[in-house]
Amino acid sequence: MQALPAPTFDDVLDAAARLEGVAHRTPVLTSSTFDERTGASVFFKCENFQRMGAFKFRGAYNAISHFDAEQRKAGVLTYSSGNHAQAIALSARLAGIHATIVMPHDAPEAKVAATKGYGGEVITYDRYKENREEIGRRLAEERGMTLIPPYDHPHVIAGQGTAVKELVDETGPLDMLFVCLGGGGLLSGSALSAAALSPACTVIGIEPEAGNDGQQSLARGEIVHIDTPRTIADGAASTHLGHYTFAVIRQLVARIETVSDAQLIETMRFFAQRMKIVVEPTGCLAAAAVLNGIVPVKGKRVGVLVSGGNVDLPKLAQYLA
Ligand SMILES: *Cc1c(COP(=O)(O)O)cnc(C)c1O
Repeated sequence: MQALPAPTFDDVLDAAARLEGVAHRTPVLTSSTFDERTGASVFFKCENFQRMGAFKFRGAYNAISHFDAEQRKAGVLTYSSGNHAQAIALSARLAGIHATIVMPHDAPEAKVAATKGYGGEVITYDRYKENREEIGRRLAEERGMTLIPPYDHPHVIAGQGTAVKELVDETGPLDMLFVCLGGGGLLSGSALSAAALSPACTVIGIEPEAGNDGQQSLARGEIVHIDTPRTIADGAASTHLGHYTFAVIRQLVARIETVSDAQLIETMRFFAQRMKIVVEPTGCLAAAAVLNGIVPVKGKRVGVLVSGGNVDLPKLAQYLA
C-alpha cells in the first residue's frame, strides 16, 4: 500500500466537512476560579463531551469515511489502550462495517465494556510483554482488514485537528494552546489548526512525567522510544511518537512539558468540584500544566484541550476521595 501524503490544514477542513452533523460540536467552558488562580483567560475545549467520551471519535470516523467498497467489506482493525478502540468500534458501527480491536489485558473495564457495547470484537494482549503493533499488523494481513492506528495516520491526525478548529472558530485567536500528548495525533492535528487559524499562538504539548519520550524526541530531533510508562494517564502511555505526528510536531510545536500523576489528580478534583465535569486522568494533562504554572500564562488568552472523560467509577471515586 502506498504511503499517504503528510496531513495539512486542508485535510482538517475536509475532515470537518465529513464530521459535520456526526461528531458533537463540544462546548468551550471557562472558570473564573481557574482564571483567578492562573492570571490568564482560559478556554477549555471539552472533548469529554464528545461521542464515546473523547476526541478520538473525530479521527476514527474521518479515517473510516475514506474506505472504499473493498475495505468496507473486510472491515477495520486497530490496537488501542482504550479510547481509540471505542472510537473505531462506534465509527465502524455507524459505517455498517466490522471492527476488530486489539486491547491490553489491563485496559480500564469501562473502556473494554464500551468497546464491546459498540459491537467491536476485542482481542487482548499483555502490554508489558507483547508488541501491539506487531499483533495488529499480523491480524490485519491474515484477515485482509485495514489497520487504522491510534495516532500515526494522516486521516486520524486531520480528524483530531477539527477540535481546535472549532475552538478557535469560537474564541478567536489565542496566545497559547496546551494539548495533551500521547502518540501525538491530537497535538499534531491541533498544531495544524492553530498554525492556520491563529498563527501567533504558541502550541505546547503536555505528557506524563513517567513517559516524556515526546520531550526527549523534540530535544534530540529524532523519535525516541521508551518502555511503557506506568502512569494513571493511560491514554498517554505510548512509547514513541509516530512518523507523521513527529514531523508536524517538530515543525509547529514550541515545547513539550510534563506533569506528575499527583498533579493530574489535583486537576481531576478541580474539574469535578469547581466545574462539575468528569475528566479522565489523561484528559487533565493540559489543564494540570497551566494550573501548576509549568509554563507562565499570566495575562494570556489560553486554549486548553480537555481530551476525554472515560474513567472507571471506582477509580474516579478513589481519585476524588
Ligand atoms: C488518546 C488520548 C490522548 C493522547 O492522544 P494522542 O493522539 O495519542 O497524542 C489524550 N487524551 C485522551 C483522553 C486520549 O484518549
